[in-house]
Amino acid sequence: MADVVYYDRELECMSRPQLETHQLGKLRDQLHRVYEKSPLYRRKLDGAGIKPDDIQSMEDMHRLPFTEKKELQQSQLENPPWGDFGCITPEEAIRVFQTSGTTGEPVKIMLNRKDWFENFYQQFMHYRCGYGLTEKDILFVPFNYGLFIAWWGFQAAMEQAGLMIIPGGGQRTKDRLRSMIDWGATVVCGTPSYLLAMAETAAEMGIDLAGSPIRKLVAAGEPGAGIPATRQALEKSWGAELFDDIGATECGNFGHECIRHKGTHIVEGLFIAEIVDPVTLEPLPDGVLGEMVLTNLSSESSPLIRYRMRDLVKFDRGVCECGRTNLRLDGGVLGRTDDMFHFAGVNIYPSQIQEILHCIDALSLEYRLVVPRMGSGRHMKIVVEPAQADTKADQLEQACEELAEIVQTRIKVTPDIEAVEGGSLPRFEGKGKRVIRED
Ligand SMILES: [Zn+2]
Repeated sequence: MADVVYYDRELECMSRPQLETHQLGKLRDQLHRVYEKSPLYRRKLDGAGIKPDDIQSMEDMHRLPFTEKKELQQSQLENPPWGDFGCITPEEAIRVFQTSGTTGEPVKIMLNRKDWFENFYQQFMHYRCGYGLTEKDILFVPFNYGLFIAWWGFQAAMEQAGLMIIPGGGQRTKDRLRSMIDWGATVVCGTPSYLLAMAETAAEMGIDLAGSPIRKLVAAGEPGAGIPATRQALEKSWGAELFDDIGATECGNFGHECIRHKGTHIVEGLFIAEIVDPVTLEPLPDGVLGEMVLTNLSSESSPLIRYRMRDLVKFDRGVCECGRTNLRLDGGVLGRTDDMFHFAGVNIYPSQIQEILHCIDALSLEYRLVVPRMGSGRHMKIVVEPAQADTKADQLEQACEELAEIVQTRIKVTPDIEAVEGGSLPRFEGKGKRVIRED
């Protein structure tokens, strides 16, 4: 079994009371910073009747107001282009990114020199050590030069850490596959859906990924790495070990899996993570599904305090087999509160459908969910495609019936199933949009 490597053993393995003392000190520094430099936070704290020095314990933290993405959007709408939530001027910034815009107006984020070169580096060194990457690794990074943060930070930090980077942007999937084989990549990054799509293309091209030097996959951008069936499909088709990698443009890079694969660790030395009920906003115990709330303790450019992530997670504060005490998300990010939809009296997460598709060999893993208007009387529709070009009509029909049955049993709704031609559903390089709501 490979040895566990830590980036900052003390911070990763300290007892919870010690960790909370460390976090409280950093939180108080951040509160002073935002109160002094961020007009939005000064308004929020004044509105709540709180001064930075009022926060004397982690318990006091619950008095602080939450921050929501719509506040950042509104702030930039009223004070274009950067808004008034950040703590630096454009002159101090050296990098800018914007969120993907899947939930409303994209939010623009500036980073200063310290955030880009030091804080991002530190955050990603936790990832590098967690994944067991070394200077001998050759990293294939398929993403395009653009405003979306994607792999920018990971690539920049790994470069500083001495890994070789193969820039895989500006290529079609087939060319990317040839490049990673020709250049001897050992680690490949991608969203779970794009990694699956690449494996499908490799099989069509006759490339033996499992026999290649590629030994690790780093998956980010959407839930999937945490879904056991998706993980299994990825690890099998690539013959590689999969690591979950989570972060957010607004908030930084806060979570990585370790080589023991017992959930996704939060980098608690640099972030405070809380879990709340998405409706009542009351704190939830460990092991219960809820929404993650994050406070970035090291950002200088735009620290966010109690930021509602909209990610659905379960916390586990038990000591990991790797020795880290930093908490773990059980199964990674399990869904998005934004993706969740209410239909026929139940809450449905698209990841549940994905999980079921993995159990049916004759269907590919791509799907669309068409959700009719409430009260229309129509069923929810699941659009699927055969796994292989030569799947027979009766096999496909049987697979569709099986899918309908499992959905009915597990999710308690009766779906209509529509099968379309293999490969005709769109594949996504970035975040996939698989739910279509009808008017
Ligand atoms: Zn661990």
